[in-house]
Amino acid sequence: MKKIAILGSTGSIGTQTLDIVREQKDIQVTALAAGKNIRCLEAQIREFSPEVAALWGEEDARSLRELVKDLPVRIVSGMEGLLEIATMPGTEILVTAIVGMLGIRPTIAAIEAGKIIALANKETLVTAGHIIMPLAREKHVSILPVDSEHSAIFQSMNGEREHGNEIHKILLTASGGPFRGKKREELKQMRVEDALKHPNWSMGKKITIDSATMVNKGLEVMEAKWLFDVEPEQIQVVVHPQSIIHSMVEYKDGAVLAQLGTPDMHLPIQYALYYPQRRNLSGKRLDFYQLSGLTFEKPDMETFPGLKLAFQAMERGGNLPTAYNAANEKAVALFLERKISFPEIPELIGICMEQCRFAENPSVEEILATEAEAYALIESRW
Ligand code: NDP
Repeated sequence: MKKIAILGSTGSIGTQTLDIVREQKDIQVTALAAGKNIRCLEAQIREFSPEVAALWGEEDARSLRELVKDLPVRIVSGMEGLLEIATMPGTEILVTAIVGMLGIRPTIAAIEAGKIIALANKETLVTAGHIIMPLAREKHVSILPVDSEHSAIFQSMNGEREHGNEIHKILLTASGGPFRGKKREELKQMRVEDALKHPNWSMGKKITIDSATMVNKGLEVMEAKWLFDVEPEQIQVVVHPQSIIHSMVEYKDGAVLAQLGTPDMHLPIQYALYYPQRRNLSGKRLDFYQLSGLTFEKPDMETFPGLKLAFQAMERGGNLPTAYNAANEKAVALFLERKISFPEIPELIGICMEQCRFAENPSVEEILATEAEAYALIESRW
């Protein structure tokens, strides 16, 4: 039995990870953590019998304890709870599928405890990649990507570096989101409902808005830099509206390797859980006779400045990626509350990147301080 713990078990990635547990039948779930969705977590506890489960607030945790008092499960709460789950003896793989920078400390603790990390929580690497990756190398811990693009790159690199074949370029594909082809003026009219209509993928609200602004691609660019240890200029974004090619790697002889598949997160999640093995997986398969065509475009960074800002944040480094990410989180929340327009999301990111105090090599505390500074900056405008 493979033993896994999941942070963010009630979310989009968390529930799909549990689909795989259900299908494969040789994974034991040691622990589950969620924010505040008590009902969903209770159902998961009843189905998967973890030893420990966590909710963020102690009051919610108390209610959950009451609900599951007939079961031998321990309910914990807060950051303490997440850290306990991240380091539990016996767990082999920690799936980090919570949202935001909350993932940083549990991920560091899990690496220190020698756990394999199946990483969905991209904010962790975007903001603290300079801490996480050297630590993982020092502890000989694998960080396995769950994000579909990074999984595709990882799959396209299988064995190549071990044979001395360095990457020439990473070609990170992007669907372009629901507003691909629109011009800046038109984006002012776009409402929450429009932005939530992703053409290919079904995901949580925050990441769906991030796809519409292309900030999600910006975060992925920064994540790829750390995961694959490449220079910013080696990463190129290619808009591929059909989302069939999940990303590609170009080698120095010009060969381009890619991973293709239907837009379904189950595959990259399962690949991370069983790496380097491939297992059977139910679900739709690609039918090449049905594919009408695969097309590629250059991203329009003038209309979608969120992507351009990500390249700037990555190139300058330090705490700028944190300012970028934190500003985006707040701006997306304001957009979802209909307090700002769609183009104001990247505008606020740009303002925070300019105004947050710069730190060259931020510690975890400095990263969290930058997050607070960016939040406060945006809040002061409302
Ligand atoms: P969701 O919003 O669907 O889920 C977030 C999860 O985190 C929920 O289980 C939520 O619990 C939990 N959570 C929130 N706050 C806390 C907290 N304070 N303590 C503990 N748990 C908490 O997000 P996604 O699954 O879409 O995304 C998760 C991560 O994976 C993100 O970093 C995202 O960028 C990344 N990702 C997502 C993809 C996708 O297809 N969805 C693809 C690739 C990467 P509750 O339900 O109780 O609020």
